Amino acid sequence: MKSLLIDGKNIFKKYNHTIALNGLDVHVPAGVIYGLIGLNGAGKSTLMKILVGLETMDEGKLSIFNQSEITSEGLNATGSIIEYPYFYERLTGLENLQLHASYMGFHDEKRISEVLHEVNLTTAARQKVITYSLGMRQRLAIARAILTYPKLLILDEPTNALDPEGMKDMRTLFREINQQYGTTIMISSHILSEMEHLADWIGITDHHKMVQEKTMDEIQKNNRSHLTVCTNNVKKSCVVLEHLGVHDFTVQEDNSIHIYENPDASIIARELVDSGVSLYEISQVNRTLEDYFLEVLHHGGSN
Ligand code: ATP
Repeated sequence: MKSLLIDGKNIFKKYNHTIALNGLDVHVPAGVIYGLIGLNGAGKSTLMKILVGLETMDEGKLSIFNQSEITSEGLNATGSIIEYPYFYERLTGLENLQLHASYMGFHDEKRISEVLHEVNLTTAARQKVITYSLGMRQRLAIARAILTYPKLLILDEPTNALDPEGMKDMRTLFREINQQYGTTIMISSHILSEMEHLADWIGITDHHKMVQEKTMDEIQKNNRSHLTVCTNNVKKSCVVLEHLGVHDFTVQEDNSIHIYENPDASIIARELVDSGVSLYEISQVNRTLEDYFLEVLHHGGSN
């Protein structure tokens, strides 16, 4: 296992009488893209605010960049988008980035043009931000967050105002940043299909706690689309499948067979029936991350 860039244990946070985090644990390995998902109000934004020093936790332990508290060095190495992106409205997009760069002591005009290009704002760069749409603001916020080559990016729903093409472009950009610079990215999104294509790790929050942290590979392994076959004779059915060259299948507790390869269902049905087996059901079950997520929420993370 890679070393952890974020290691949080038993984090509690209340706003007056409202519980936002109730003993949440979080483990983000260095160098990964970590997708944080959960229903509205689960505590995702609160966690992200704590990670970038905008809120303090009431109780718990947090190690980030191997430090037991938020440090200015850590914050300098962190780019973030938390909630609505604020800018100097009367300044242009370019001027906003120049100002941010000078605050950060980062003097590289070429990099400013580069990030504007990466988020597709080159043409609008000299327009005042007040004229920007929400989607353009989000692009500018992404440009600002990645400007100084941060080691850590904390992105709270960074693309929720973008159209599908814009989302896809940003997904590609995040993946490139992660691969090129080794940037660790924590990203929250309500659009689970986005996460499916982006995240290496998924953290599922529910009722202000982390209910599951798993790699996307592990989730995909446990959540594969399959062909369900139910017959009166499981043993014989398995022999028929093997005979047909189908090997990637499992027998479930209810005696149904799940076939994960993509075989021709009509051939399987015919061979089973020809062998004398009674076929009760044969159906394709397509599984998405959303199905998995809902199942974890209903089973309290035991999945
Ligand atoms: P969403 O997906 O809707 O953005 P979230 O998972 O990010 O939700 P948070 O915004 O962290 O959840 O909120 C967690 C809980 O804390 C919610 O019940 C919310 O109402 C409450 N909360 C968050 N910020 C504040 C605040 N500033 N004052 C009072 N309550 C707050």
